[in-house]
Amino acid sequence: MKSEQSTDILIIGGGVIGLFCAYYLSETNSRITILDKGPANEASSHGNCGLITPSHVLPLNSWPLVFTALKSMRKGDAPFHMKPQISKQFLNWGMQFLRNCNHNRVINNARSIQELLTPSRAYYDELFEKEEIECNWRQNGIYFLFKNKNEFDHFSKENELTSRFGQNAIRIPKQELLEKEPALREDIAGAWIYSDDAWLRPNELVSGLKKILVGRGVEFLESAEVVGFEKYKDRLINARTSKGVEIKSNQFVLAAGAWSPLLASKMGLNLPIIPGKGYSITMGNQQNAPTRPIIMMERMVVATPWSNGYRLGSTMELAGYDSSLNLNRLNALRRGASEYLKTSSQGNPEEVWTGWRPLTPDSVPIIGPSKKISNLTYATGHGMLGMSMGPATGKIVSDILK
Ligand SMILES: Cc1cc2nc3c(=O)[nH]c(=O)nc-3n(C[C@H](O)[C@H](O)[C@H](O)COP(=O)(O)OP(=O)(O)OC[C@H]3O[C@@H](n4cnc5c(N)ncnc54)[C@H](O)[C@@H]3O)c2cc1C
Repeated sequence: MKSEQSTDILIIGGGVIGLFCAYYLSETNSRITILDKGPANEASSHGNCGLITPSHVLPLNSWPLVFTALKSMRKGDAPFHMKPQISKQFLNWGMQFLRNCNHNRVINNARSIQELLTPSRAYYDELFEKEEIECNWRQNGIYFLFKNKNEFDHFSKENELTSRFGQNAIRIPKQELLEKEPALREDIAGAWIYSDDAWLRPNELVSGLKKILVGRGVEFLESAEVVGFEKYKDRLINARTSKGVEIKSNQFVLAAGAWSPLLASKMGLNLPIIPGKGYSITMGNQQNAPTRPIIMMERMVVATPWSNGYRLGSTMELAGYDSSLNLNRLNALRRGASEYLKTSSQGNPEEVWTGWRPLTPDSVPIIGPSKKISNLTYATGHGMLGMSMGPATGKIVSDILK
């Protein structure tokens, strides 16, 4: 049965980005509705690694990564895997990615990324001072761990670049590191630590935010997939959902993560975003877990320890909208971790998970008013860093719509 509702601001997508938009917007008097096709807060923002990393200012665009991707096409368990695709969206995205693989663009894009990462880190401090959200928030920095001595030494070049953006890592040689972290295997080379980096348990953060928003009167409409829009001239009038509800709104925010381009096309728009699939395995507390998160650099596996669990995550698979759980990739996470850590990652996991990062071709999210639809604001394309950039995105969107 068809029914109609109305609101002032309709946010499409209840992941970390939609929730942070609603959090700052709910400080105004507007009526806010969040629409989600699943339970809000259960998509990409649920099972990720939970790192809050101002250190990750550099975009993904680099020629070595392109060569790694090309070589990985035949390897089912490589940390970076690209499935050959001939869709127009993928080819356009790939061309734009290549155009951004030059030094000047990398530096410019890093500036834009920094403008989201640095304030977000400070807004997290404010958030946890103001609100009671139990989400294992810790701020001791994150190790970038190497097994190979040359790669370890060579990281000084990357550190020189990140230092330009206020992110300077400290080099920790092997012996000192082994004394600090008994969880590490003896055959590692050393680590760099960015001390501004922090971490949290993402599903707990998003559940905490949702609870606060419900308390503030934000309305959640879940299991309601947006299937179309009504438009008049350059304005959206309403969003039609699979539940038969039509929601009329003055303003629309598109925060649907990796699904954003599919929704944009229903509005006649084209967004350069593709899904970058990742995996995680979550276990209960493990004996001899590391004291802080570890990025195992050669394998690109992340281990995140919390007081109530332990997660291995990562891998990047460009394979379109394929949501299957590939056991090869899950096992590669375990194998990768066992090359660096004494911590066991065997045993029955509490959860095995896959999610899509919304990847733009220059690693810079798309935030701000649409040029073609006068009452549409974008908040999407956060790629590998949605948890780290959520608060600043929410503030920007709220400043635009206030
Ligand atoms: C393995 C892995 C590890 C990661 N680790 C980190 C990390 O350590 N730190 C970090 O900062 N980031 C990390 N990320 C990235 C981060 O998870 C994402 O950038 C972030 O979750 C994106 O948030 P979002 O709100 O844009 O999208 P999502 O959380 O995916 O939310 C989008 C929402 O839109 C809804 N939706 C989609 N289509 C429709 C529709 N038609 N109608 C209604 N609703 C719709 C979906 O149901 C979903 O709930 C990781 C990602 C992966 C995959």
